[in-house]
Amino acid sequence: MGFIKFLGTAGARYVVGKQLRYSAGTWIQLSGVDLLLDPGPGTLLRCRRSRPPLAPEKLDGIILTHKHLDHSTDVNIMLEVMAELGHKGRKGVLLAPRECLEGDDPVVLKYVRKYPERIETLEEGRSRDVGPIRVMPVKHRHGDAETYGVILDSPEGKIAFVVDTQFFPELVEHYIGSDLLVLNVVLLQPRSGIDHLSLPEAAELIRTVRPGLAVLTHFGMTMIRARPQELAHRLSEELGTEVIAANDGLTVEAEHWRR
Ligand SMILES: [Zn+2]
Repeated sequence: MGFIKFLGTAGARYVVGKQLRYSAGTWIQLSGVDLLLDPGPGTLLRCRRSRPPLAPEKLDGIILTHKHLDHSTDVNIMLEVMAELGHKGRKGVLLAPRECLEGDDPVVLKYVRKYPERIETLEEGRSRDVGPIRVMPVKHRHGDAETYGVILDSPEGKIAFVVDTQFFPELVEHYIGSDLLVLNVVLLQPRSGIDHLSLPEAAELIRTVRPGLAVLTHFGMTMIRARPQELAHRLSEELGTEVIAANDGLTVEAEHWRR
């Protein structure tokens, strides 16, 4: 039993700024553990408006992959609500890159750090456990932002989130063995100087990893104009692996990715 719900699928600043798609995070429930990945702008609202509603008080942990606004804006309010406003003491786990916690421009406010039970850094080669879920970070290349993709090793399989990154050959190796591969595909075509995956690069990852299911999300304008559902359908036929494009509110059940 488990599921993933995409509360938002917006990927680039324009799409986020205009709210052409919601920019809320992704809710993950595996083996009774509830996690939230990358609480971008509107995450609290999209949880409450979700049908059925997703109660942030039920969260066991929040994972922040990097500090960019479309991934982190709601992290502070979500930490507070996860801990039920602190009424019952500390609750939940926060996993985040060091730069989100320290340095010149930390996005996690200091006064909010009294809420979670544990705050741990994401670091390359160092896994972190939240109940029965092992979180394995993968170092990405995403401009100046310290960024990690994550693989969640769970009784429901290996669920990988290939978040913002430029493409580089070694990237693929890290994700081999994933049952579900979620890819942030901002661009329709590769564009130099923009540290985001394009559709052909995502296709290469899917071709090599061969997951049970691949889900495309985090779309920029070029992807949205080209109709993500149709692109995903074509990729499925080309690669012989099921590929779907996320919509705001899409729920994917564990049975769908299990092989
Ligand atoms: Zn980013």
